[in-house]
Amino acid sequence: MSTEQKEDRSACAIIVAAGRGERLGQEQPKAFVPMGDRPLLAHTLAAFDEHPRIGSIILVVPAGYEDRCCQEVVQPSGSAKVAKVVAGGDTRQNSVHHGLQACECKPRNVVVIHDAARPLVAGDIITEVIDTTQALGCCITAIPVQDTVKKVKDGLVQGTPERDELWFSQTPQAFRLDLIRHAHEEAQRKERWVTDDAALAEWLGQPIPVVEGSSRNFKITTADDLLMATALWQASK
Ligand code: C5P
Repeated sequence: MSTEQKEDRSACAIIVAAGRGERLGQEQPKAFVPMGDRPLLAHTLAAFDEHPRIGSIILVVPAGYEDRCCQEVVQPSGSAKVAKVVAGGDTRQNSVHHGLQACECKPRNVVVIHDAARPLVAGDIITEVIDTTQALGCCITAIPVQDTVKKVKDGLVQGTPERDELWFSQTPQAFRLDLIRHAHEEAQRKERWVTDDAALAEWLGQPIPVVEGSSRNFKITTADDLLMATALWQASK
């Protein structure tokens, strides 16, 4: 990384952690579930806090959990980059929208959107998405699908898409702030609901470069995922 790049801290991160995590089967929201020594969200926050190209961070948490997040995640982390902790919405898309509304970066700055539920994100991937977005306006991370995928309806196979062309979408996904803010505002206005931010940029006709992600950066959804992520984190200490 050049000295100029190291000093460029213009990128902002939005970490969405407002999911209830029902599939994890715990009483509390997923962000606060312990992963080893700290809440899951604290691990994800650390990945962005430690990154030299990230200047500010917005945390989006379930409504009513803002104070708990400050006490149990932000204060113990000692992070000076957390600009705001805001309440999320009833869907991931609405939570990102709330984060974008809270973002005070310049319109052409890069915003890196990341799922709190992917705590094992590597620093070099964050660097690559920022570089690519500064050059091309946006990018996503994704990994090639390893299994054969079937389209199924009513218990019957409808087709087998060409595996070579299928990738699993991950986060981080990064965008120039003005581009993704416009996409989210349009989606709210036209009531278009999707499961990742890139789908909104695609909808507006934006070409979206892909940066290869990592199988380690999986999303913690089930209790088994949490066990695996904890083991991987412990092994890498
Ligand atoms: O629900 P899903 O597994 O797709 O969630 C991905 C990420 O989006 C998680 O980090 C979760 O906390 C976040 N999310 C959110 N607000 C919601 C639902 C999910 O911030 N209403």
